[in-house]
Amino acid sequence: MSSIKAPRGVRDILPDESWKWEYVFAVTRKAASDFGYREVHLPVFEHTELFSRGVGETTDVVEKEMYTFEDRAGRSLTLRPELSASMVRSYLENRMDRQHQPAKLWSAGPMFRYERPQKGRYRQFWQIDFEAIGSQDPFVDVESVELSLEIFKRLGLSNLEVVVNSVGCPVCRPVHKKALQDFLRPRLNDLCETCQARFDRNPLRILDCKNPSCRALTDDAPGTISCLCEECSEHFEVVKKGLEMIGASFRIDNRLVRGLDYYTKTAYEVLSGDLGAQNAVCGGGRYDNLAESIGGPHTPGVGFATGVERIVLTMEQQGCSFGEAPNIEVFVISADGPSREEAVRALYDMRRAGISADIDYTGRSFKAQFKAAGGSGAVFACILGPEEVASGQVTLKDLRTGEQKSVRRAELTDFLKTRLR
Ligand code: ATP
Ligand code: MG
Repeated sequence: MSSIKAPRGVRDILPDESWKWEYVFAVTRKAASDFGYREVHLPVFEHTELFSRGVGETTDVVEKEMYTFEDRAGRSLTLRPELSASMVRSYLENRMDRQHQPAKLWSAGPMFRYERPQKGRYRQFWQIDFEAIGSQDPFVDVESVELSLEIFKRLGLSNLEVVVNSVGCPVCRPVHKKALQDFLRPRLNDLCETCQARFDRNPLRILDCKNPSCRALTDDAPGTISCLCEECSEHFEVVKKGLEMIGASFRIDNRLVRGLDYYTKTAYEVLSGDLGAQNAVCGGGRYDNLAESIGGPHTPGVGFATGVERIVLTMEQQGCSFGEAPNIEVFVISADGPSREEAVRALYDMRRAGISADIDYTGRSFKAQFKAAGGSGAVFACILGPEEVASGQVTLKDLRTGEQKSVRRAELTDFLKTRLR
């Protein structure tokens, strides 16, 4: 029988990597609270309709990438491909409109998209998502960009580029749609098949095509900004001014339309120069029509999501610090027989005193245990052989300096605490 492997596109985050994730979460959590965002735990699956209506029927995510299944009662459910729709659903369902506005919320967890797996692109991947729901103020858009940049700055990331656009609203979008279709019509046959299919339904997405020949053809296509209505145009001006005010360096990219349908006005991405093809570390923007599209009252919102795998990849590539790798502090080395019991007792005494400690469970030789101690990253080896037990002492070896010292067994934890802290 062949052994079972994990499905394509998913990864095990093993201990050598998971501690780095912890660091990213710790830094992010602190930044979130510094900016007044509070955490929400959201469900991993939702009614399929939430995404088909909230993300948009004509998006790649809904058309091709969702993990949709029927539960035992025949309901159509979907593993969440993103978090904004769930967050807005939760906001509406829990009447957060009655609280101070905007509700500033964040959430983290695995997302699921049926994509072509490659470096930085997986079928299960983690996002950390921030949403400010209930305000139209363009300064909330600015705060959203600033929060993402502040997180990346605290993580030590460099070589990032902020790309900003305004995708308009239902007033200006038809104007742009028409201008774009007029421009594309004579070139239709030269577009890729996917883009040809997008022409009637969602031509905006053609600007987003990664195919080089489509990109070349759309180089001079009318951008969204040229068609903005007065309100969107004013909003965009304030956002740009705000970004300049906070000293964010950004580039305006008229082609940035983002994959999801519900975006209005501001759209932005943060790109890493060190990620190759999967270069977006964060994507966000305003979604003033999302709440209505899922059956709620008109509720403006703005937010962003950042991909944890891509953050960690970029940090590794750039040699950023993840703080200190978590190691145990003391490795206990013991012999067989009665001294082993004493060693186990010492082990638990240390742990109860808040010292992290471990012991060998494979019956290895003294020499092999020393080797294991060295490999464990512990600061001290604590040796408890028959001689030590007989004399009521333990031998502590500082594994960094090689220095060895006898300590009275009764004073072991106090001694270690002063030496370790
Ligand atoms: P891309 O253009 O790379 O497909 P996207 O526009 O689909 O990204 P969003 O939906 O905005 O991405 O998600 C926000 C962030 O989540 C991205 O910037 C990226 O860091 C991360 N992300 C998206 N899809 C994946 C994936 N399949 N695997 C790993 N990370 C992902
Ligand atoms: Mg995508």
